[in-house]
Amino acid sequence: MDHTEEIVIVGAGIAGLAVAVGLHRKGLGSVVLESSDKLRAAGFALTVWGNAWRALDALGVGDSLRRNHLRLQTAVVSSASSASLVTKLPAKEHEVRCVRRNLLVEALAGELPHGTIRYSSKVVAMEDSGESKLLHLADGSTLKAKVVIGCDGINSVVSKCLGLKPSTFSGRHAARGFTVLPNGHGMKPEIRHYNGEGFRAGVLPCDEKSLYWFFTWASNEEKERIHDALKLKEFVLGKLKASEIPGQVVEIIEKSELSSVASASLRYRSPLNLLSGNICKGNTCVTGDAFHPMTPDLGQGGCLALEDGVVLARCLGDALCGGGNGEEEHRNRRVEEALKEYEKARKWRAFRLVVGSYAFGFVQESGNWFLRLVRERILAGFMVEWLFIAASFDCGKL
Ligand SMILES: Cc1cc2nc3c(=O)[nH]c(=O)nc-3n(C[C@H](O)[C@H](O)[C@H](O)COP(=O)(O)OP(=O)(O)OC[C@H]3O[C@@H](n4cnc5c(N)ncnc54)[C@H](O)[C@@H]3O)c2cc1C
Repeated sequence: MDHTEEIVIVGAGIAGLAVAVGLHRKGLGSVVLESSDKLRAAGFALTVWGNAWRALDALGVGDSLRRNHLRLQTAVVSSASSASLVTKLPAKEHEVRCVRRNLLVEALAGELPHGTIRYSSKVVAMEDSGESKLLHLADGSTLKAKVVIGCDGINSVVSKCLGLKPSTFSGRHAARGFTVLPNGHGMKPEIRHYNGEGFRAGVLPCDEKSLYWFFTWASNEEKERIHDALKLKEFVLGKLKASEIPGQVVEIIEKSELSSVASASLRYRSPLNLLSGNICKGNTCVTGDAFHPMTPDLGQGGCLALEDGVVLARCLGDALCGGGNGEEEHRNRRVEEALKEYEKARKWRAFRLVVGSYAFGFVQESGNWFLRLVRERILAGFMVEWLFIAASFDCGKL
């Protein structure tokens, strides 16, 4: 039997790294098991809203990321069918930046003591072993852990062990891409969104030379996802050229290298399962997409994972650092109480965003004439305001 670890985190994505850094700052060590042989940064970039900047500051990496990313000043929404401006809202006090995923995970991982992340360590199963958990790895080895935190994403093994249901296909797919223009892109520091009939598109600058773009569309079957980058790019360009989206945006996508274009099927956790299911049980819990997979319409999945990390590290840190080690039984009870406190703090926040994101995407992407009318004439300003409302949350300090 291998060694028993105090705290094992499964997955070194945004969620797992945020918890590990938070625990480290609270004086608690952990082991992070990552299935890949290096840090993964699937998806190129993501919108990081004010709520996540507060979490990144609590984790101590906010300023280093700010230095490499432009602060976006305005959200501009236009119709893809008529090219007309639907709404334009200044971000004002809200801090929004489009952050390169590799820089984000590297910044977090850089805060951890050497050897914390164990690569090529894929967890395939988990079982009870007295008061601890026994983790089975793909290479046949096992690891015993007193506390297990599942941050293993949308197909989480840990959430399955907690009895949570698999995520649900939303009936939509996404294409994402990244374009680097060595001489600069000249685009204003704006979030630009285009609502079409049955699709949405957007483009956001990360810095002076690089831009992130996305395109989401409705699709009946999950198996219709386009894996081949060339076909995916051609599909997106075909849709955009048939719309009234400005040539400048089309050109940005045309200039993406095929290695910087990827697809994803959009999945979410059913809100009922989120409320009735176990986010934690005994000494095990989940964070990030393992907890609350959601459609990307509010751009909040990764931001919420950062908030989770701060709240969970605070709960566990306060429980384990303050009261001395005590007897094992008392220690286990303190862990259970800390995880319950985390669950209580996070469930409704996650519920609101999973539901909000789905509803937002449904209205924004709908081709139905009535919904289009409502969205463009009545709800236009409110829809953008909604993005800022979701971002006004403060998860507090560690
Ligand atoms: C199209 C699209 C656009 C998005 N845009 C935004 C946005 O603008 N803003 C935003 O905040 N969010 C956005 N999101 C959501 C965001 O990408 C996710 O919420 C975020 O990446 C979740 O991080 P995570 O660490 O929970 O999961 P992941 O990023 O999936 O990381 C999980 C990690 O665990 C590892 N792993 C998996 N299984 C195992 C295992 N069994 N054993 C060991 N390791 C394992 C994986 O290799 C991976 O490194 C978007 C999502 C999509 C699909």
